[in-house]
Amino acid sequence: MAEVLVLAEHADGEVKKVTLELLTAAKRLGSPSVVWTGPGADAGAARLGEYGAEKVYVADSPDFSGYVVAPAAELLASLVADKAPAAVLVAGTTEGKEIAGRLAIKTGSGVLTDAVNVVAGDDGAPVAEQPNFGGAITVHSVVRQGTPIIAVRPNAISPEAAAGAAAVEAVSFAASDAAKAAAVTERVVAEKGERPDLTEAQIVVSGGRGTGSEEGFKIIEKLADALGAAVGASRAVTDAGWYPHQFQVGQTGKTVSPQLYMAVGISGAIQHRAGMQTSKTIVAINKDPEAPIFEFADYGLVGDLFNVVPQLTDEVEKRKG
Ligand SMILES: Cc1cc2nc3c(=O)[nH]c(=O)nc-3n(C[C@H](O)[C@H](O)[C@H](O)COP(=O)(O)OP(=O)(O)OC[C@H]3O[C@@H](n4cnc5c(N)ncnc54)[C@H](O)[C@@H]3O)c2cc1C
Repeated sequence: MAEVLVLAEHADGEVKKVTLELLTAAKRLGSPSVVWTGPGADAGAARLGEYGAEKVYVADSPDFSGYVVAPAAELLASLVADKAPAAVLVAGTTEGKEIAGRLAIKTGSGVLTDAVNVVAGDDGAPVAEQPNFGGAITVHSVVRQGTPIIAVRPNAISPEAAAGAAAVEAVSFAASDAAKAAAVTERVVAEKGERPDLTEAQIVVSGGRGTGSEEGFKIIEKLADALGAAVGASRAVTDAGWYPHQFQVGQTGKTVSPQLYMAVGISGAIQHRAGMQTSKTIVAINKDPEAPIFEFADYGLVGDLFNVVPQLTDEVEKRKG
């Protein structure tokens, strides 16, 4: 069976969930081999094996943390030349998409981004499902040139356990001078707090202009904390300075795909929809029954959010006991 390369996302030896999602997709296409950059592979390999990784190529070089994304693209390009895989899957994160683009140039291959599913086509080649125009159209795409490179949205595929051998194989790697052109000079750890990461959270509660002010937006945080959810915001909110830009959901913000997305006081503009359309269940709370968000929400509640949300928060707290 042809190898399918999966670029691992990891931090402190912990395999990120999106990597397990990629392995689940890779298993449908062939024999998954994980590409691990930097240290920590020994701790991560067992977990990768539980989700079907047959091999783990480990390039334990300081170049991956010392420089930006170019070394990872270079490593993948050399593995593509060496192993002739059936496909390369990367996480559809900002970094992952940049690596995918660079790898496509290096290998003369086609690249598909923002895939929400990947399956084997009739000829065995990967077919990626991509939502377009804010989710109004879904296309199924194949790569016709080179090695298919696919960036898959985090949270879009449910990880499925499947035993694999996860044999660790060291790969020697030294980044070229060209890949060292942009070096990392400082790392600042973003304040994370207690809430889950926006792009990885199972539940996201987002607030819009309907919250009225920075003070009004706090109602969103309270509901999110009761649900153990991440907080998101529309651009109207982040542009007004009521909540930081890093939490903006939409075309020019983050793309999320949680199990539950709650849009509170958000109208549902196409640019917002583009970032949350693939959420499994969408609940909208809006005082305007004609708000566009109700056209694609699974559940809608027409009402004043300042009346509805505190009751909802209390009810959630009560049920949690
Ligand atoms: C190039 C471009 C990129 C963009 N990118 C993004 C993006 O990434 N993300 C994004 O979100 N937007 C983006 N936008 C902006 C987008 O077009 C909308 O302007 C924005 O999403 C609107 O935010 P909103 O829904 O919070 O505000 P509004 O559209 O003003 O909607 C507020 C809603 O709150 C409701 N409401 C008001 N008071 C209450 C209340 N008390 N109780 C309940 N409901 C209430 C109203 O009925 C209304 O539906 C982009 C626009 C452009 C041009």
